[in-house]
Amino acid sequence: MKLVCPECGKEYGKDERIYKCGCGGVLDIEGKDVSFPRDKIKQRNPTIWRYREAIPIESNKNIVTLGEGFTPLVPVRIGSLEVMAKLDFLFPTGSFKDRGSSVMISHVKGIGVREVIEDSSGNAGASVSAYSAKAGISCEIFCPSYASEGKLAQILLYGAKLNRIEGTREDTEKAVLEKAKDTYYASHNWNPYFLEGTKTLAFEIAEQLGWKSPDSVICPCGNGGIYLGLYIGFRELMEQGIVDSMPKLLGVQSFACPPIYEAYKQGKDKPDSFTQTEKTIAEGVCLAKPNRGEAILKTVKETKGAMGIVNDKETIEGLKMLASQGVFVEPTSAIVVKALEKFVKNGIVKEGEKTIVVLSGSGLKVAGELSKII
Ligand SMILES: [Zn+2]
Repeated sequence: MKLVCPECGKEYGKDERIYKCGCGGVLDIEGKDVSFPRDKIKQRNPTIWRYREAIPIESNKNIVTLGEGFTPLVPVRIGSLEVMAKLDFLFPTGSFKDRGSSVMISHVKGIGVREVIEDSSGNAGASVSAYSAKAGISCEIFCPSYASEGKLAQILLYGAKLNRIEGTREDTEKAVLEKAKDTYYASHNWNPYFLEGTKTLAFEIAEQLGWKSPDSVICPCGNGGIYLGLYIGFRELMEQGIVDSMPKLLGVQSFACPPIYEAYKQGKDKPDSFTQTEKTIAEGVCLAKPNRGEAILKTVKETKGAMGIVNDKETIEGLKMLASQGVFVEPTSAIVVKALEKFVKNGIVKEGEKTIVVLSGSGLKVAGELSKII
């Protein structure tokens, strides 16, 4: 197993303490040994670690877990459509990021790192803080000053050092990159081990459908934590002959910051860098320069998928539609609802197909803010 830069082809050892290639490219993991012993899997605990043979962490003693994963898959109605919702906000820290953090911090522990930094709009920061606390690793988080109070309180209570940065999400990234020169950058956007955790979402969906792929999966998409995780997961299932098709992968961005959607619409292979000027309640998908943008656009093509976009009014409508069925998510997660209706309207999703919506973050994290806008 090794780290490989798709930009320039340079290879690195799997345990190197780097977060990107010398050329600036984002790194992938290659040469994994993956298998799915289904008889064993069904007897194991309902966590992401039931897919042990597919997660590239060598020693069990390095696994850092809070019992995360195997979230429920339940029917919900969206407009006239009956779909299955993957309740991926039911995690120890209230968001799907725990899939990635559990695997990434297990890797970090395994290579002997004692100190990490991370930047985030909130959920990833809370998640990395929690798993660092569990692992006994000291943790420092950089967040934009506008991040939700609930998420910032989580970070502080998990014992991480919190730096609130004025300005945009990019100003926060600049601040963390300066610090990353001399500390291990456990980044959900850069570190390829994070996607090795989020890919377990695909394994769970397939297992919950009787080891079959759905026709399409729709999820929020900022830098592809869920989107690319789904792709890696379903690809591994196909390579091992466990499922026989790749679902259409449908990503959703916010009107306030849609660089990938814009590139998709214009048929480009790479997103242009974007300057966010408007605020949105869907803060979790706002990434003006997504470093995995090219990989996401390639995946859209390969899976015959699509990218969609919604505004804040539509987001609130979606949030209310889910809440009226007992499902309480944060605005960033609710963007999938109205986007799905648009995908149905333009024929990308058809009635009668098996469609999964991924609901990624808990509404409880932002209950205070939501009480002011409903
Ligand atoms: Zn490179």
